[in-house]
Amino acid sequence: MAEATPSSSLFSAFARAPIHFERGEGVRLFTNEGVEYLDFAAGIAVNSLGHSHPKLVKALADQGEKLWHVSNLYESPQQEKLAQRLCDNSFAERVFFTNSGTESMECAFKTARRWQFENGAPERVDIITFEGAFHGRSLAAISAGGNEKYMMGFGPQVAGFIQVPFGDHEALKAAISETTAAILIEPIQGEGGIIPVPHQCLRGLCQLCDEHGLLLIYDEIQCGIGRTGKLFAHQWVDGAEPDIMAIAKGIGGGFPVGACLATEEAASGMQPGTHGTTYGGNLLGMAIGNTVMDVVLEDGFLEQVQQRAIFLKQKLAEIADSFPDQIEGVRGDGLMQGLKCKITNLEVVGACRDKQLLTVPAGDNVVRLLPPLTVSEAEIQEAIDKIEAALTALQEAG
Ligand SMILES: *Cc1c(COP(=O)(O)O)cnc(C)c1O
Repeated sequence: MAEATPSSSLFSAFARAPIHFERGEGVRLFTNEGVEYLDFAAGIAVNSLGHSHPKLVKALADQGEKLWHVSNLYESPQQEKLAQRLCDNSFAERVFFTNSGTESMECAFKTARRWQFENGAPERVDIITFEGAFHGRSLAAISAGGNEKYMMGFGPQVAGFIQVPFGDHEALKAAISETTAAILIEPIQGEGGIIPVPHQCLRGLCQLCDEHGLLLIYDEIQCGIGRTGKLFAHQWVDGAEPDIMAIAKGIGGGFPVGACLATEEAASGMQPGTHGTTYGGNLLGMAIGNTVMDVVLEDGFLEQVQQRAIFLKQKLAEIADSFPDQIEGVRGDGLMQGLKCKITNLEVVGACRDKQLLTVPAGDNVVRLLPPLTVSEAEIQEAIDKIEAALTALQEAG
């Protein structure tokens, strides 16, 4: 049996690096010992505007002085405002606010099943997902993600999730039956290893759902909120709008905020009493979410993300060329890039950390680079220099 570190009172569920951060500013983090790190992990795509963004700090302080929380028993102009802006800038017409990605997914599952139920097909409960997916850590979310490692020892898989191989159109068609409710996909797999879904496949999924009376659900918890240079990753693709979409991470910029977005039709089953949340839509979270939207929707902000992304990708491609024994290639969209490694990704993440650069490991032996959307070209160059130094050190250590 694995033992917790004797000095720790925490669950040993996380393998933590032996550093702790005390302060952050933009793309930089400072440890308790004053050591400066360049943060290309961004809390795993959470700190969309970097650390201590002055507008977020102000929004939190201003709201904090007025009112923190009132529950969802009363009207919420703050929720209305953020919901309206999410809808104005997407396919969506209705929004349910949550505190996390997992809860946004949970709302998406229930919304899809409920729609089928209300539309005369209560037997349609199955949600089809794809190998390599990650949708969170609740019992339903691990069942949707289908990763054996995450399900082992936690009892029976929650019923109603069917997984097919990624990119296998025949298997997908064969999996659709009279009990299928919805298809769920990340437009870019994050934890799975930064794997973008080809545009024609998203379009194909959309058509398939239409043909079979299924709902299409996107998980944009990691790839949404400007990460790819559009507000949502699927907006790069014409004719691939979902019925339901889960978001979180970037919309809160570090404050726990998530949301389930849906069309009017898809949300129509979710009447009073069907679903709820205590903290979802909390006033502090809404103040932050509205401020993140202010910044991301500013004229030129997303274009700037696109330009920075091109620069990052070019530089990463050069690294892949220079270190062919260690790096197999680069993949991803926008400021969501992955280095597919030949040596183990954890070694590369560790070597980068030794050079004071934070990155995140992902599945398929990939190192993820997810800098704040506010990253400058100079900061990208600095990260590239650190990656080069890290790979050189690994090479020399042989
Ligand atoms: C992080 C993530 C989740 C889970 O979000 P939590 O806030 O950790 O519950 C779900 N799906 C994707 C794609 C994610 O990246």
